[in-house]
Parts: sequence; C-alpha cells; structure tokens
Amino acid sequence: MDNLGIIEDGAVAISNGRIVAVGQTKIVNECFSSRNRIDALNKVVTPGFVDAHTHLIFAGSRESELEMRIKGVEYLDILKRGGGILRTVRDTRSASKQQLLEICKVRALTLLANGTTTIEAKSGYGLTLEDELKSLEVVRELNQTTPLTLTPTFLGAHAVPPEFADRTSEYVERLCEDWIPKVAREKLAIFCDVFCEKGVFEIDDSRRILEAGKRNGLLPRIHADEFYPLGGAELAGEVGAVSADHLLNTSSKGIEGLQRAGVIATLLPAAPFTLMIDKYPDARSLISSGVPVALGSDLSPSCWIENFQLVLALACYKLRMTPAEALTASTINAAHSIRLAQQVGSIEEGKSADLLILDMSDYRFLSYRLGTNQVHTVLKKGVPVATDGKLAL
Ligand code: FE
Repeated sequence: MDNLGIIEDGAVAISNGRIVAVGQTKIVNECFSSRNRIDALNKVVTPGFVDAHTHLIFAGSRESELEMRIKGVEYLDILKRGGGILRTVRDTRSASKQQLLEICKVRALTLLANGTTTIEAKSGYGLTLEDELKSLEVVRELNQTTPLTLTPTFLGAHAVPPEFADRTSEYVERLCEDWIPKVAREKLAIFCDVFCEKGVFEIDDSRRILEAGKRNGLLPRIHADEFYPLGGAELAGEVGAVSADHLLNTSSKGIEGLQRAGVIATLLPAAPFTLMIDKYPDARSLISSGVPVALGSDLSPSCWIENFQLVLALACYKLRMTPAEALTASTINAAHSIRLAQQVGSIEEGKSADLLILDMSDYRFLSYRLGTNQVHTVLKKGVPVATDGKLAL
C-alpha cells in the first residue's frame, strides 16, 4: 500500500474517455499527439477518489444533534429518543422521489467538485419497501444524470423501523423473504449491507440477511464492530463479505478472519471523529496482518463530509496511515472494495480516465494540508468536470 509507482515528469494520454498510455512525458509525446492538452506542470496527477462507503441518499439534516453529542449523549441513546437514523427516516420518507433526487444530486456534484469520481451509495433511510426502492432508484438516476459513478447497496437493515419496534425477527424475515428478492429482481443493487450491532441486528440476524442477499445475487458487505465487539469481522470472514466496514472494536481473531477470507477492511475515520469517540480502527494491525485497507467517508446526516481530502487527512492523523497508504486506500483499494477495480482506481491503460490534477508539488500535501480544496481539476472519463472546486458542467 506504500508503493504508489510515482512517475516523475509523467504524462497521460486519453482517448474516448479511457487511458491509453501513461509514462514519462517524453515517451508519451513521441507516441501521441493531441490538440487537447492539459498542462499539469508542477502539479500532481492521481486517480479520482473512490469513496467506498456513503449514505448519500437522505433528506433533511440533524445539526441539533451536534450539541447533544457535545453534552455527552451517546449515539445509541439519541437513537432511542427517536433521533439519529429514525429522524432521517421520517425526512426521507416524506420526500418525493423527485425531491430526493434533487437534494442528492446537489450533494453528489459537491463530492465530484472536491475530487470524488466514484462512490458506493447505500439506501437505508427509507425502511419501507417503497421508500427503499425509491432511494435505490435515485442512485440509478444519479448514475445516469451526473458524471459520478455510483455503485448501489441495499441497506434495508440499517435500523429496525418504528413499525417493527420490538419485532426485529419479523422485520428480518420481511427483508429476507420479500424486499431483498425484489431489489435483486429489479437490479437496483450490487451489494447487500447490514448494520450489525448490539441491540440492532445481532450476529444471527446479520448472517440471515447477508445469506439471503447472496442467494439473490447481492454481494455481502457489513457494518462491523463499530460500537461493541460483537464479532462482525468474524461474520464477514464466514460469509465471504467483499468488505467489512468500521472495525473499531475488532478482535485479533476478527482480523485473522478478514485476512483468511480476503475481506477488504473499509475504514471510516470521519465516523468516530464526528461521533466524538476517542477510539479508531487499528489500521496498523490490519495492514501488518495483510488485510487490504480501503477508506470511505461514511457520509451521512451524522457525518456530513463532502470533501474526501479530509478523510485522507484523518486516516493519517488518527489511524497513523502514511500519506501513500491513505492514497492507495482511497483509490485502488476502495475500487476493489466496491468491485470496480477493473474500471477505476488507478492510472492504467484501459481504465476510465478519472483523474485529479492536484495543486501541489508533492502528493503528501493531500493529507498534510487541512481544510481547503487542493484539487485543481477533476477529469471524469477524460472530460474536465470541475476546476478549483467549481463545476464545469
Ligand atoms: Fe455507514
């Protein structure tokens, strides 16, 4: 993860939205000519950021919860008081599909302007079949109507909806027997995710949901061991999840399970940061155990982060990943985490020309300099779609 394969004085040739050559400028110039040249002198060119974990599809906001957190009210307590996810569920349900599309489009384009060119996007704030389908249809429309690439995940198991309070197993049954098959039949999701957590969906329920997803052709990913060491990482290994996410309380046995099963650890340092939990995933142990680490923003109403550059910084400052590891985790490893590594995530011949021209002479500024947008130009499929944070659409 520490080896970026940096080319000094490099150039990239692009044709029809794809990378056709990458190498030293002199050599690329000998083989290709073009009237459309973009000068990146004294700048750094990287792949576009791939955000491997977002809850993009939501309406409303929860700014009042910041004060509750400051006063020390814990997240699971906010949830019990009808706040947290449940508040956003109410707001998302009351938005029409068109309203939700417009809200999420603005957000998606903000991500793009800040350098994110591909994201995973979850449902999970509808929690009725109709509202979950609506959320996934919004993902599909954003894929068709914005330059961003979105990979859809069904997260009907984000929380137990109020209609099913104290009837978790009935809700799980509904998910497995009815909703998951419908989502799969309509080809609205690639992945099936579960919020595996004490008091929400525990291990047996999570296993049932992920296995039902697999039977219907949806690949498993899991919110694992965020608040309690429940054994979510072990379950990820057991069911062969593509990705296990969060991992704040994962045991060494859990890490072994991930490594053996080839599960990618998708770490979300902005989540404990915004929840004010002074506990972070053990990225160093994961990396030294040979587990591939990816990064995600966990963008949601409780972790409203639209500039992925901050995620890279938090990975360095809080997880002690090196700037190179953070960049690998935000590009090619994140692409693997959402099964798009054949198309995006690195500057290689044949891949989509999703590139960033960064306003810096050394890539390490990306994690080192905080609080500004350091992306000069965003190219998606070879087309400049944003410059200096402004969209060029
Ligand atoms: Fe999440």
